[in-house]
Amino acid sequence: MPDAADAADTKAGQVRGDARRRIPRTDALLAEPRLAKAVDELGRDLVRGVIAAAQDRARAGEIAPEEVADEAVASLPATATSLREVLNATGVLVHTNLGRAPLSRAAVRAVQAAAGGTDVEFDLAEGRRARRGVGALAALAEALPEVGGVDGVHVVNNNAAALLLCALVLAPGKEIVISRGELVEIGDSFRIPDLVTSAGARLREVGTTNRTHLADYAEAIGPDTGFVLKVHPSNFRISGFTAQVPLTRLAGLGVPVVADIGSGLLRPHPRLPGEPDAASALADGAAVVTASGDKLLGGPQAGLLFGEHTVVRRLRRHPAARAFRVGKLTLAALEATVRGPAPPVRRFLDTDPGTLRARAERLASALARRGVDAVAVRTTAAVGGGGAPGVELPSAAVSLPGGFAPRLRAADPAVVGRLEQGRCLLDLCAIDPDADERLVEAVSRCTS
Ligand SMILES: *Cc1c(COP(=O)(O)O)cnc(C)c1O
Repeated sequence: MPDAADAADTKAGQVRGDARRRIPRTDALLAEPRLAKAVDELGRDLVRGVIAAAQDRARAGEIAPEEVADEAVASLPATATSLREVLNATGVLVHTNLGRAPLSRAAVRAVQAAAGGTDVEFDLAEGRRARRGVGALAALAEALPEVGGVDGVHVVNNNAAALLLCALVLAPGKEIVISRGELVEIGDSFRIPDLVTSAGARLREVGTTNRTHLADYAEAIGPDTGFVLKVHPSNFRISGFTAQVPLTRLAGLGVPVVADIGSGLLRPHPRLPGEPDAASALADGAAVVTASGDKLLGGPQAGLLFGEHTVVRRLRRHPAARAFRVGKLTLAALEATVRGPAPPVRRFLDTDPGTLRARAERLASALARRGVDAVAVRTTAAVGGGGAPGVELPSAAVSLPGGFAPRLRAADPAVVGRLEQGRCLLDLCAIDPDADERLVEAVSRCTS
């Protein structure tokens, strides 16, 4: 019955045409109080884009013309960036792709306060220039008395920059002696040997993949040696017939030893046996210790350098140090992380698995009451981010049908879980208990 169908189409077209005429115009929408406020907070272009998308949905008949303003308001992003808030339910405590360590509230407040302008390099009492970021350096020096004061601490952009600076200062045109068992690729094709040789140093590999002895180092060391590099193989483990030379013995070889401990633990942690820490590396005789700020220290992205004052002074004064320096936001976050209450990563590490299981039960039953197929399960979480390989942290998760995974990633805040045997697991080890309610809300919204 083509005629009837045509008539119906025409009728529908007229209705759509009428509806289109009722779609509010852009200037009217920009004057709507909620959207006008958003222009102040997010900028006109961004709000215009959101309005245009809502108008398009009305033109396509997906929403009514009267709903355009509400739809635009609901689609406004939280900030004027494309970065979205993510709840890390992957079961990987320090997830590099998700920004590594979440900052403590104290650190977030410090960042906010410093953002508008601060005395990062200024002595307010004297009214003149001062040493940059001395508050953060002092906080680290107090947390790690083994360095003997602020002159034994320097902060750069990340651990890679810290290593590069060591190579530039201690081994220009010289050799860096390293065990073949420590030629590490960290991730995303980032290889520590390539990094240090890019500074103009040569690599002198010693020993074999599984075994390196003190004599291997001793034979390689000579007038061309810049330093011995000891790298923590933070993301893999060699087991079986193995031998590596402890730092204390390397320190006796008469050349500086740079120890890249990776994760940024300042001292040993009972749940992470075998994970190197700065205090022990210094006590064992490392001339310089390098570490990341955003792994187990729980702070912002930064590279931490601890060591002998003469060496740290040379690092700080090298021209390249300027290229690696950190900004006020990093220094504010770092100081508040070290001085303030334990950051989330440390609290997560110290959470007892029974507490996580109780939370998972509570969340699963809250969701089940809303008709979601959710059950609490036991899981094994990992430290991740290059840290404590092989350490399994007993944890707990809410298990959902696998179909939830893409919808949760599209939610706001986005929730990233992990898929296991067709189920979407939301691991709680890296979720702040204060965010539990938001997690339930995010999952519930995905069912409608
Ligand atoms: C993570 C890691 C690095 C790289 O640190 P960034 O702060 O990401 O530059 C270097 N060495 C080791 C051993 C690591 O674990």
